[in-house]
Amino acid sequence: MSATVLRLEDVWKSFGEHDVLRGIHLSVAPGEVVALIGASGSGKSTLLRTVNLLEPIDDGRIWLGDTDISDPRIGADAVRSRIGVVFQQYNLFPHLSVQRNITLALRHVHRLGKKEADAAATALLDRVGLADKADAHPDRLSGGQQQRVAIARAVATSPELLLLDEVTSALDPELVGEVLDLVRDLADDGMTIVMATHEMAFARDVADRVVFLDAGRILEEGPPAEVFGAPREERTRAFLARFM
Ligand code: ADP
Ligand code: MG
Repeated sequence: MSATVLRLEDVWKSFGEHDVLRGIHLSVAPGEVVALIGASGSGKSTLLRTVNLLEPIDDGRIWLGDTDISDPRIGADAVRSRIGVVFQQYNLFPHLSVQRNITLALRHVHRLGKKEADAAATALLDRVGLADKADAHPDRLSGGQQQRVAIARAVATSPELLLLDEVTSALDPELVGEVLDLVRDLADDGMTIVMATHEMAFARDVADRVVFLDAGRILEEGPPAEVFGAPREERTRAFLARFM
């Protein structure tokens, strides 16, 4: 067994001339919750996308458990079936019911039968407080409810790792809390989570480690109390000052 769920070793990624990730080293332990913070454009989304094999890297290695997922021979579908992902918005299939959104991957990727998949979806919807929305289409749900379904869907397959990219950024402020409460629940349950977020109070409260990304490098990282309470780097201080 590997001691880490995820390990990035000297990961580089550029778009044209622009180096967006510049030598990222990051290890995530089982059950750890890592908050990625940093200015817009610092590379948070790109980092998460490389892990889900949505962006090929130029150099370095990425390990998911014992699998070198940066090996070009690796099958992207097999890797993605081990990772749950939720983005800022447009996560759900609009033409499918909430229930079908959740059962789809269970049936077709994880090969559960209809009965089992339906039972799993029902249990999950119950857990996220949306049992009564099973037959609704996503456009009938609030943004907060949609994100709760998206998170339920992402964890339905019991992924080894959950990637969250600013899952509350597109929400009206009054809907943010219900989504963060669900993330907190999953964290309490031992889910391994890497999340890009601007919710500093939440990161401080829930994350085991805060990683400050600055122009494609990890400039500073540590327990939330240290990074938020006594940042070592001037640029971290300047970034955090914007949230005070
Ligand atoms: P963050 O999520 O921290 O805001 P991103 O990872 O989205 O940062 O972006 C980092 C940098 O990479 C930005 O300058 C962005 O414009 C650039 N970038 C991201 N995706 C692409 C792409 N597909 N093509 C070109 N540039 C991109
Ligand atoms: Mg982003």
